[in-house]
Formats: sequence, structure tokens, C-alpha cells
Amino acid sequence: MKRKIVIEFMRRGFIAAACGLAAAAAWGQQPPVKLDVDATDATRKILRANLEFPVHPGPLTLLYPKWIPGEHAPDGPITDLSGLKMSALDKPVAWRRDDADMFAFHVQVPAGADRLEVALDFLLPPSAGGFSSGASATAQLLDLSWNQVLLYPAGVKASDVKYSAVLRMPAGWKFATALPVAGGSAPAVSFATVSLETLVDSPVIMGTWLRAIDLTPGAHPGHTLNIVADSAAALAIKPEDTRHFAHLVAETGALFGARHYGGYHFLLTLSDHVAHFGLEHHESSDDRQGERYLTDEDLRNIEAYLLCHEMVHSWNGKYRRPDGLATPDFQQPMKDELLWVYEGLTDYLGIVLTARSGLWTDGNFQDYLALEAARLDHTPGRAWRPLADTAIAAQLLYEARDEQASSRRGVDFYDEGDLIWLEADALIRQKTGGAKSLDDFCRKFFGGESGPPKVVPYTEDDVVAALNTTAPNDWRGFFRARIYEPAPRAPLGGIEGSGWRLIYTNTVSPMLKLRESQRKYTDMSYSLGLTLKEDGYITDVIPGSPADQAGVGAAMKLLAVNGRHWTPEILRTAVKEAGTNAAPVELLVENEEFFKTCPVNYHEGEKYPLLERDSAKPDLLSQILKPLTAEPDLK
Ligand SMILES: [Zn+2]
Repeated sequence: MKRKIVIEFMRRGFIAAACGLAAAAAWGQQPPVKLDVDATDATRKILRANLEFPVHPGPLTLLYPKWIPGEHAPDGPITDLSGLKMSALDKPVAWRRDDADMFAFHVQVPAGADRLEVALDFLLPPSAGGFSSGASATAQLLDLSWNQVLLYPAGVKASDVKYSAVLRMPAGWKFATALPVAGGSAPAVSFATVSLETLVDSPVIMGTWLRAIDLTPGAHPGHTLNIVADSAAALAIKPEDTRHFAHLVAETGALFGARHYGGYHFLLTLSDHVAHFGLEHHESSDDRQGERYLTDEDLRNIEAYLLCHEMVHSWNGKYRRPDGLATPDFQQPMKDELLWVYEGLTDYLGIVLTARSGLWTDGNFQDYLALEAARLDHTPGRAWRPLADTAIAAQLLYEARDEQASSRRGVDFYDEGDLIWLEADALIRQKTGGAKSLDDFCRKFFGGESGPPKVVPYTEDDVVAALNTTAPNDWRGFFRARIYEPAPRAPLGGIEGSGWRLIYTNTVSPMLKLRESQRKYTDMSYSLGLTLKEDGYITDVIPGSPADQAGVGAAMKLLAVNGRHWTPEILRTAVKEAGTNAAPVELLVENEEFFKTCPVNYHEGEKYPLLERDSAKPDLLSQILKPLTAEPDLK
């Protein structure tokens, strides 16, 4: 389906020329499209929507949003669009889906009609995978993405067509959104008329248990942490975490020097039954985690960076946006190449802010970086695929399976972005004798005047120019070598340049221990060369590793180690003991219904990544992680 993107793009141009553009100028001056969303049956996994379009008689094409901003892929959940009916002058109007573009519906508006009514249902998925089109409703809450419950006219910019939305929710529910309220209150609320662009950029969270915490009392713009959860107990955020999130807000102000929103809402959903991810918006972020995220410190520590990452996107991704991603509607294909800036730099700033705001200790940051650096440094897929290609192909790689990831590579522009932007940060500090840092670039590139949301696109040239005015360097060559050329080794220059080095020890770091226990896997990548799930299913074998040479492959299942039923402890003990003798580690594996024993000749003991201080160099990393502001006093 996705291989046909080029064909669909050509077809899209044809549709716009045929029947959308004639009406394009008119849509800007038209009364708003009315949208009424009935979410009262959300707990039964169904949303109902009614739309009323101001129209003229003649051909009209209506579109279901396909390219969802921030998801960088044509993953609009068209399969779950159901119950589509259209009418005008109180009579049904037939629609026909475009043969080539599954997201386009053609209709003939009858003579004399000035309104077209559209009814549709959205079938909410129960499975927890995916992004915003994954599970979004539970028995107690709903995360509403407006793009899932509307159509819009072809041939107009999303910033030109206006929508007036009404939302009905189950009795007793509360809601939170960045969208301004025009009237009513829960369970039936009318929102201010906004552009389609703003509407789709403004999701709503709602549910039985919802709590709003003012992170910047009395300040303008305001910042609110809105939490909706499957239980009242899950809302019990620790006072120190509230202070850390308030500190995060203060730190973003110091880092960027300006804010490009009228107010900011974290929309945090805590449930074990929704998809877990974060999605950026200009004035809010849709952040979804497990029910105990705020009450279980281990759970929070693993992904403590989530809200930091999504908030940084308000500057990098929403205000400043790569020109290939600044598309005028939701049908034109996005070009993902500059995701190494959009996501890579955001990821770096996100983890730096996690430490600066106190959500992580410096030790947490170091453990995290060691794990990512080691993984990237043991990815043979680097030899054929440059980092830039993981960005260009992001729309495919977000959905790639876990098996054989070290051969394929995944969306590495996030984690490798951490390493590359750390190196840029360290370089700027070195070249300016500590007078400047990447923070100065951020203020220059993402700061400017504070004000309401707007989009200012950027190119690689703009990034290079702003870096050169911060600290002159061959920045184009710097990025070419690290991003556009295949490189067998990960770029570790930032770790080394900031006074640390990546080493391997026989001790599992606290961060790896947390990940293994929460995500239920065992990581033996750096010794045997494999990772496996708790049932023994082998997700990856690193090509060239001892396990690979012994004939072990991904998707096999480990049954026994040295003749004994396997457990993580037994496997680790066997690897440890093989370090002091000459006998191979014998792995009994199941390959579908066949069994075989693979003797792994490996004798170097357990190996787990860690960052170690290099005392011969100044500790720039600790300077980078130092907060720019004092923790706010919320009393
Ligand atoms: Zn992101």
C-alpha cells in the first residue's frame, strides 16, 4: 500500500485540479464547517460525528486526513472510518471513493443545495499498538484526535478552512484541551471557531478522573499539566515531580528565550489500555503512559523524558519546521529527510532538559546515553544504510518489526541524533572556550519574538548558517560525514569530547535493569550478540556476533543453556563461567518445530555498556546537564 505513494501523489494533483481548486478561494470566506462529535459511546469504542459543509452545486471532493502531523507517515486510520452517509436538501447524496486515493470521496452536490451534511462513525481500536490511531479509549477515558472524526474539502489549505466543533461526552466526565471553549461545559461543550490546522493540532483528553495542575501560577502564558487516568489513585503525582515539571517549563524559557503559544497544556493519559507514545502539538502535547507512570518511580524513570521531548517540539517541529514537513494539508506527502533535526535535536534537548529539570539524575542520563550509544555501535545495518536514509524512510521504519533490527536499522535519527547533537554542543563549547554552547544556537534559531503559534519553515542551509554564527566550523561537512554517509561505527565523538567514554563492564546498569524488568527482555547484545523476550523468543542476533557464528537466528526460541532450562539468570551465569573456561556456551534453540544445539564459542564474560569519566578531559557533559534556572517555588 505504501509503495504506491508516488502514484497517489500524481493522482492527488489531478483531483485538486479537476474539482477542488475552483472552490479553493471560496472556502476561505465561507461560513465554518460545523462538526458535532458524539463521544457518549466512547467506552463502547465508537465515536459518531455529523458535519455540515457550506457548498455550491457541482462536483466536490472530501478528504479524510492521511498524513498526520508529528507521525511523519500516511497513517490516518481510514480503515476505522465507518457509517459514512451524505445528504443535501433532506435527500441522500451518493458518494464514491476515489479508485487510487483511498482517502478521497467524490460527490455531486445537487442543484439548489447550499449545505452538505455528512455523518460518519469512527471505530476506536482496542489494541494498544500504534500512535494516535492506536487504542485511545478505555472504560474510563478517551483521547480524541479530531482528524479521526472529520472530512475536509480538497484543494484548500488546512489553515484557510474554518471549523466550529461541538463535543458531547459521557455524563460525569471532565475534559482538557488547548482549544478555546466558546460555550457550555462538560458533558456538552462548544469550541471557538478555528482553522482546520488548529483543530487537528488540538486534541482533547476526557474521562472520569481528570486533574489539572497549574505549573506557572499567575504567569502568562500559562502552563497546565492535565492528567486523565483509569483510576483516581493514578492522579496522585508526587510533589517533587510537580516541581520538576514546573522546572521543565522554566528551563524551556531559559533555553529558547521566547514562547510561540498563548498557553501550553500537557495532556497526559495514564492507562494500561491505550497506545503509549507522545505526539507534539503547538500548544499542547498528547502524552500517553501506563497507569502507574506517576506513582511508580521505576516506570517514570524509564521514559522520564517524554513530556520534555514533546514540549521541545513546540519550538522544533511546530514553530520551526523542516520545509518538507510544512505541508498545506493532510494529503500531500511529507518529506522526512530533516527528521535528524526535527526529531534528532528534539531528542537531545529532551533528554538534556530531563536532567536539567530534575526528572533524571546525571547518572540516569549517562546510563541512558550508554545504552543508546552501545546499541548504535553494534548495528551492522549502518554499513549499508546512512542515518539520513532512516529519516527519509521513517514512514516505513516506524512500523518495521523488532526482529533483525540490527540488520535493517530503525528510526535511529532519534538516538543517533542524541550523539550527534551532543558532539555539536561539545564542539561549540570547545571552539568558544566555554563562552557559547548549543543553547545559544537554540535561542537564535527557535527564539525570536514570543507570540501566538505560527510556522517558520527551515532547510539544512538555515541550520548550518545559524550554527556558523554561533561558532564557525565546517558544519556542513560535520553533518555530511555523520548523517549522509554509511558509517560502521556510531558517532561517539560527543561522548568522548565531553569528557567521558563508552565502556563495557560485567555489571547491568540500573537503567538497563529497569528496562529489562519493565519491558520483559534480556539484553546479551554485547557478549553473545542476542536479545530475547521473557519466553525465550529471540528478537535479534547481531550479524557477526558469537551467537550468529554459532547458527542462532532471530525468531528462534531459546529453550536451554548448557542442558538446563533457560532463565535470564542461568544464561548470564553460563556466559560468566565461560569467561574462565574453554567450553562453548551450548544454546538449545527451537526453530519452528525443529530443535538444534548451537555451541557458542565466547569466552569474554558478561558485557554491559556504561559511561566512564575520562579524567584527562574537562567534564563538559556535567556542564551541559546543569540547570539554567532555579527550581520554581510553587507555593
Ligand atoms: Zn518527537
